[in-house]
Amino acid sequence: MVKGIGGSAGYGVGKIVIISNAKPEYTVRPVKDTEAEVKRYEDAVEAFEAKTQAMADSMRGKVGDHNAEILEGHILLLKDPGMEEIVKSTIKSGTCAEAAFESACDMFIQMFQSTGDELLQQRVTDMNDIRTRMLKILTNTPDINIADVPEGTVLVAEDLTPSMTAGIVKEHVTGIITEVGGKTSHSAILARALQIPAVLSVSGIVSMVHDGMEAAVDGVAGTCILEPDEAEKEAYLTKRADFLREQEMLVIYKGKDTQTADGCKVELFGNIGNPDEAEQVVSCDGEGVGLFRTEFLFMGASSLPSEEDQFAAYKKAAETMQGKAVIIRTLDVGGDKDIPYLGLTKEDNPFLGYRAVRYCLQHEEMYRGQLRALLRASAFGDIRIMVPLVTCVEEIRQVKELLKELMSELDAEGRKYNKDIPVGVMIETPAASLIADLLAKEADFFSIGTNDLTQYTMAVDRGNAKVSYLYSAYQPAVLRSIKHIIEAGKEAGIPVGMCGEAAADPLLIPLLISFGLDEYSVSATSVLATRGTIAKWTKAEADVLAKKALSLTTEQEVEALLAGEKR
Ligand code: PEP
Ligand code: MG
Repeated sequence: MVKGIGGSAGYGVGKIVIISNAKPEYTVRPVKDTEAEVKRYEDAVEAFEAKTQAMADSMRGKVGDHNAEILEGHILLLKDPGMEEIVKSTIKSGTCAEAAFESACDMFIQMFQSTGDELLQQRVTDMNDIRTRMLKILTNTPDINIADVPEGTVLVAEDLTPSMTAGIVKEHVTGIITEVGGKTSHSAILARALQIPAVLSVSGIVSMVHDGMEAAVDGVAGTCILEPDEAEKEAYLTKRADFLREQEMLVIYKGKDTQTADGCKVELFGNIGNPDEAEQVVSCDGEGVGLFRTEFLFMGASSLPSEEDQFAAYKKAAETMQGKAVIIRTLDVGGDKDIPYLGLTKEDNPFLGYRAVRYCLQHEEMYRGQLRALLRASAFGDIRIMVPLVTCVEEIRQVKELLKELMSELDAEGRKYNKDIPVGVMIETPAASLIADLLAKEADFFSIGTNDLTQYTMAVDRGNAKVSYLYSAYQPAVLRSIKHIIEAGKEAGIPVGMCGEAAADPLLIPLLISFGLDEYSVSATSVLATRGTIAKWTKAEADVLAKKALSLTTEQEVEALLAGEKR
């Protein structure tokens, strides 16, 4: 068995097709007629644009706008004036188009890599993809046609680039295994959008396998078996059938209220990273947006998005949700989320450093722009503002003070906005948890960010594999904190939600029911499953389980108890 990261849930058994994205060979040669060589390069760019646009258009129908936009971003990257200038001037100095283009790509890749930033690492994948495809056009090398793989294929690739994925015929591919990529990589996002089981980050997989070899993929556990025997294949196929049946059965929850078996109603929202994803929340039956991570708007731009740009994005999300709640988190920059043009300096402890609300309050001009955009957009729907990484009362007070000033500004300009816009606090630090009673007096709502709450409570970097055994919401320390936060919110009479990954964890849901969580915010594709799990528990049953869980001493004991009771 080989281990990786589960990137997209599900089970699949099939025959491997290796998708090599190796760049084509060519001979570097000097050129005399540089004008003709520049023209050859320009023709290749044109061909790339036409091909890529066609792929984006076909993808738009299949997996949504966001994925098509990734491909359209490739056209923009290629046609970037800086890139064009470097390539053309290298050609004019007598280098062939292939070598000129490749050296320009290498320069960009090095630049992106040197930041060590996860999102810019993604640009490295994009740049590699563009390089290979442009070189194929320039050298007349035929492109891989992923669309032609036979039914029952397990795709194996170093990385699955957006351009490769565009051609995937969902019905033909039963699984994906890649050497690189994490839960937030394009390959993971695309695999989830296509609902193909995927295991990512399997080191050395491409050299371990050959075409035609059989493989069983477990996208839930993040493992695969190479050359499974008959019994193993059978077991995987049974798991696959059960999984698919479960997925199909979830449609019974479509259009239903989210409530426990004994009728306690709660809210079930979706998490989004851009306004287009609000459409997916609607189509997956989410009852609102519980977390709009606005940093993705900032990361996706090459300079600070203007107030107008932000206003348009927030308004679009609000309008898509048609009056349902849209909780928008103000910029959560820093930690592992760098935004190059903000010029953040490297810090020894970035997760403990200059980030999120701390950064925003010291960059008032920028923050004012975001808050004004949010206020203005609040005239078009039920927008609620959420402040991340709060650790003391002053931070939320300062944000509210700023909002008051901005409201007067908007009044003077005669602009419309919701004067009673709710302002909430994200509880994701031990400090916020410990002073939840004090924060509750200042906030209109809480949302528990368990991804960070677990990281900070356990003092364990959420991305460090060496200490990942400690990174668990089943840890008694984390469970107590969650319970305490919900109780503090209840005491103060404000609603408490959860927008970290734990909100969709079927093992944890009965405990959240027992603690009295009011709102669950999960990824769009988890909405129905979460509604289904909530429906299987009565409050009294959940209370019995929660009491037992809280009496246990270790994370393993808690997990074993919850796994044994899973519904
Ligand atoms: C969290 O910390 O739980 C959360 C939802 O925010 P993010 O994952 O963006 O840090
Ligand atoms: Mg967080």
